[in-house]
Amino acid sequence: MATHVLAIDQGTTSSRAIVFRDDISIAAIAQQEFPQHFPASGWVEHEPEDIWTSTVATCREAMTKAGVTPKDIAAIGITNQRETTVVWDRATGKAVHRAIVWQDRRTADICARLKADGHEPTIAAKTGLIVDPYFSGTKVAWILDHVPGARARALRGELMFGTVDCYLLWRLTGGKVHATDATNASRTLLFNIHTGQWDNELLDVLNVPRAMLPEVKDSSTHFGDSVAGLFGAPVAIRGIAGDQQAAVAGQACFAPGMIKSTYGTGCFALLNTGTTPVASKNKLLTTIACQLNGQRTYALEGSIFVAGSAVQWLRDGLGLIKQASEAGPLADRSDVTQSVYLVPAFVGMGAPYWNPNVRGALFGLTRNTGPAELAHAALESVCYQTFDLLAAMRADWPDTAAHTVLRVDGGMTASDWTMQRLADLLDAPVDRPVIQETTALGAAYLAGLSAGVFPEPSKFADNWRLERRFKPVMSAATRTRKLKGWAAAVRGVLASDEAG
Ligand code: ADP
Repeated sequence: MATHVLAIDQGTTSSRAIVFRDDISIAAIAQQEFPQHFPASGWVEHEPEDIWTSTVATCREAMTKAGVTPKDIAAIGITNQRETTVVWDRATGKAVHRAIVWQDRRTADICARLKADGHEPTIAAKTGLIVDPYFSGTKVAWILDHVPGARARALRGELMFGTVDCYLLWRLTGGKVHATDATNASRTLLFNIHTGQWDNELLDVLNVPRAMLPEVKDSSTHFGDSVAGLFGAPVAIRGIAGDQQAAVAGQACFAPGMIKSTYGTGCFALLNTGTTPVASKNKLLTTIACQLNGQRTYALEGSIFVAGSAVQWLRDGLGLIKQASEAGPLADRSDVTQSVYLVPAFVGMGAPYWNPNVRGALFGLTRNTGPAELAHAALESVCYQTFDLLAAMRADWPDTAAHTVLRVDGGMTASDWTMQRLADLLDAPVDRPVIQETTALGAAYLAGLSAGVFPEPSKFADNWRLERRFKPVMSAATRTRKLKGWAAAVRGVLASDEAG
C-alpha cells in the first residue's frame, strides 16, 4: 500500500520537494536554488531547464532521505510560482524563450494599450483580474511577437503554452499530458472564471492562439503518470494548484469566510467566498481558490509587495540586525512613546492602493529614534498593510466576520512580536499552525485526496493543528490612534506621487 505523497513546490527562487506521510507529518524535505536572470531593468527570467532539473533532483533527494521508493508514493502534487510563462515546441520539447517570471514588467506597454483601447472592464469582469504585466496573457503574446517565427508556429499548433505546473506536468509525463488546473488558469488573463473555460474574446484581445493552450482540469484529479525512467517506476500526478491557492488548501480554509495570509518576501491574503465570485470594488483580485469535481470555490485575493523584505531591508540595507530573527526582539526594546511609521512602498504600493509610482517613507522621526524604533515600524508596517487588505475584503464582501480569525504561514510568522502586533491591530485572533509548510501540504492534500490517502475536506480540516493563537490585547484607544496615524502616513505617500 502506497502511504506517502510527494509534493513539488516549485517557487520563484528555489524548487522544493517534500514527502508527506499519510498522517500528514513530514518525512523529508529537499530544496535547491536556481539562477535568476535579469536581462534588462524590470525583466526577470528563468531557464525552464533549470526549473525542470532542480525539480527532479529535489524529488529524488527527498525520496532518498525519506527512505521511500516510487511504490510507496501514492501520488505527486504540484504547486508552483504562479503566472510565470513558458512557451515550448510540441515536437522537440525545447522552450522557445526563457520563462518570463511573474515579477517581469516588460509587457507594461501592452497593458497600457489594452487599457487605452477600453478592454479593461471586459477583462476584469471575465477574469477577476486587473490589466497588469503580472499575469501570463501579455507575456505569452510578447514571446510570440519577439521570437522569430513563433506566432506562425503557434498558429500551426506547433508551440505550447503553460504556467510552471503545466510545463512540469508535461515533462513528468514525457510529453503525454498538456494540462493545468483551474487555479493556475485563473491567473492568465485568458480564462473566464465564471464559465471555467478559455475565453475566445479574451484570446482575440490578447492575441493568443487557442491551439497552444492546455486542457484545464480540477485541482484534484488524475492528471497523468510520470514516466518510469524518472524515479524508477511511474507515479500518478493527482494534484495541482498555484502556490497561494495550495496554501488555502494546506490551511484547510475550505469554508466561506476563512482567511489565510502568507508572510514570505511579500504577503498574500486570500478570503474564501465559497461558490460566489465576488467582484472587488477595492482593487482586490477575484480568483479561483480550488476546483473539485467541477465545482469552483472562489477567493478574494490581496497582495502586499513588502512583508519579510522589510526585515531584509533592516538587515541588508540598514545593517541594524544580523539575522531576521533579531528583528522582533529589537522592536520589543523600542520606546513606545514614539509614533514612527514606515510605509514600505519600496516598489510602489500593492493592494488595495496599486500605485506603482510612489516610493517608501518614514514618518514621526525624533532625535531619539533609533534602530529599535525602526525595527518596530518595519514589522508593524506589515500588520497595518494586512489591516488595509482586510478592510478592503470586508467592504467587498460584507459577510466577512468582524473578528474573523487569520490563519498565517510563511517565514515571517516565526516572529512572535509581529504576530502579536498583527492580532492587536486587526483586533482578531491570529492562528499559527503546527505545519508551516502549508503550500506543499496543500499540494500534497489535493493529490492525496484524489489518491484516497487523505480524507475529504471537512475531515482534513479536523486535522489542522494549531501551534499558537495570538489574541488581541491592545486597548481600543491605542489601536484607533495607531490606525489613524498609519492612514495619514499612507495618504502622505500617495500624495507624493509625482505622476499623479
Ligand atoms: P519566500 O517564500 O518569499 O522566500 P519565506 O516564507 O521563506 O519567504 O520567508 C522569508 C522571509 O521571512 C524573509 O523575508 C525574512 O526576512 C522573513 N523572516 C524569517 N524569519 C523571520 C523572523 N524570525 N522574524 C521576522 N522576519 C523573518
